[in-house]
Amino acid sequence: MFKQFAIFASLLILIAGCIKEVPNPKFSKTSEKEVRMFIDSIVNELAPIEKEWNNTQYNAWEGGLDADYQKAAELETLYRLKLSDKEKFEKLKLYKSMKIKDPTLKREVEVLYLMFLENQLDKDIIEELVKRSNAIEKKFNTFRAKIDDKEVSMNDIKDILRTSTDRELRKKAYLAQKSIGREIGKEIVELMKIRNYAANKVGFKDYYEYRLAIQELDKDYVLNLFDKLVNLTEEPFKVVKKEIDDMIASNLKIKPEELMPWDYYDPFFQEAPEFKELSVDKYFQKLDLIKVATDFYKGLNMDPTDIIERSSLYEKPKKNPHAFEMSVDRMNDIRILCNLKNNYDWMSTLIHELGHALYDKYTDKNLPWLLRSPASSFSTEGIAQLFERAVGKDGFLKKYVGLSDEERAKFRYLFDKQLRYRQLIFLRWSAVMVNFEAQAYANPEQDLSKLWWDLVEKYQHLKRIPDRNEPDYAAKIHIATVPVYYHNYILGELFGSQLLFAIAAKHIKHEGRLIDVPLSEVNKIDFIDMPDVGEFLIDRVFFLGARLNWKELVKYSTGEELSPEFFAKQFF
Ligand SMILES: [Zn+2]
Repeated sequence: MFKQFAIFASLLILIAGCIKEVPNPKFSKTSEKEVRMFIDSIVNELAPIEKEWNNTQYNAWEGGLDADYQKAAELETLYRLKLSDKEKFEKLKLYKSMKIKDPTLKREVEVLYLMFLENQLDKDIIEELVKRSNAIEKKFNTFRAKIDDKEVSMNDIKDILRTSTDRELRKKAYLAQKSIGREIGKEIVELMKIRNYAANKVGFKDYYEYRLAIQELDKDYVLNLFDKLVNLTEEPFKVVKKEIDDMIASNLKIKPEELMPWDYYDPFFQEAPEFKELSVDKYFQKLDLIKVATDFYKGLNMDPTDIIERSSLYEKPKKNPHAFEMSVDRMNDIRILCNLKNNYDWMSTLIHELGHALYDKYTDKNLPWLLRSPASSFSTEGIAQLFERAVGKDGFLKKYVGLSDEERAKFRYLFDKQLRYRQLIFLRWSAVMVNFEAQAYANPEQDLSKLWWDLVEKYQHLKRIPDRNEPDYAAKIHIATVPVYYHNYILGELFGSQLLFAIAAKHIKHEGRLIDVPLSEVNKIDFIDMPDVGEFLIDRVFFLGARLNWKELVKYSTGEELSPEFFAKQFF
């Protein structure tokens, strides 16, 4: 068998050598059979390891045992090692350049190619990268900022920025958060250079382009999209920023022109202010969150019961305090993890995580293993965000929270306003992150502190701190530990909005351009007892898994290419 493969491989290399003279060489049926065998042999090895890794990882987060954490790390290494095989990667490269007729097989080759591409770094480079980014993460976790020689936690800092009217204290809290940057700034720049070196070795200009390629994106596309979004939001952002500035300034009893970065609500001005009038938690205190979430999804013809039964939902010692979703075996073992409390935030989070889970649940289980996953990180994020947005809507507040007409009339306005503010502020902040990483990886030798503050001024309209020359970018943990990911949050929102227009179009039998669907019709889609909406999403998105790439999926589900105009029309 192995020998046969070797002969086959050398034949392919010959064919590949002729690619220039013979464009689009077609694959014969026999060759496709060989590719099928090649893919299956790899999947047969990967699938059981991935399942065990997922299961162990879930247990580690759920139970907090060191042994589970360690075993999960070992399984991850084993999994990645399988995907680092250089010979197999060369074969996949070749298969990818061939014209495979069977569309499923063609897509499997693409997906497996990307999985290998992500793991093509030499073992010593991987170890070096993991070591360095873990060391930075550890420093982040154990770093204790100080205010006047007194240690403060991140939560203390956030509390001060959220509530204090003492500007001296605000400034100290802000600078205390940034002080981690000074500790790790140099290490981050070194990490960036090693990441670039690694990307060069795999044939990419820099690490930014390499990471995007793994996500089937490219730099020009992402930066253009953000440029468009920045232009679309320039005016609305000015209006909202002025309103926020006036509000903060009057609170602090200063002029708006005097505001400095430490006068905003969080260390990066990435969150919208909380409206005091929007204290709705008391209404969620008496709710049975699980029953509400189950009924909500049943109203969309989706059943989360089995997922809920398999999941760890409440707080316990040593458990991961966040929330996430996981398809353990790419079949029916799908779980979420939450730390539910009876308040608005956890209601939204439960709906969000179950959204991810139902995407996985209703993915066609007859698809090959490689394609039984969402089309991209942002397609599943967009779906989860879309459902989550329903929680503050009138229909939800009426049916599940039981608010009176008057209460709803008041809250509806506030919820809509807050959602709009959140989208605007987070978008402008994301533009800083995306452009910073793109430019920093393109040239890590430049004055990164200057670059950071140039972008903060340009996109967030914040005043830079005079004479400051510190690596403030390093105080954002994503730069070190979740690099080249930020665009996904925004792409998810764009996809969610575009889907909403497509659903509304179907409801009113709209023909013509999707953007012409009236916003009033879009706003009617509140996801309350709308089985046809659920069926649309299952049919047009979930069922397909990764059968289509994200571009094809957006086109298939909405009829148009991914565009920022739906998101813009909905919120700005
Ligand atoms: Zn999510």
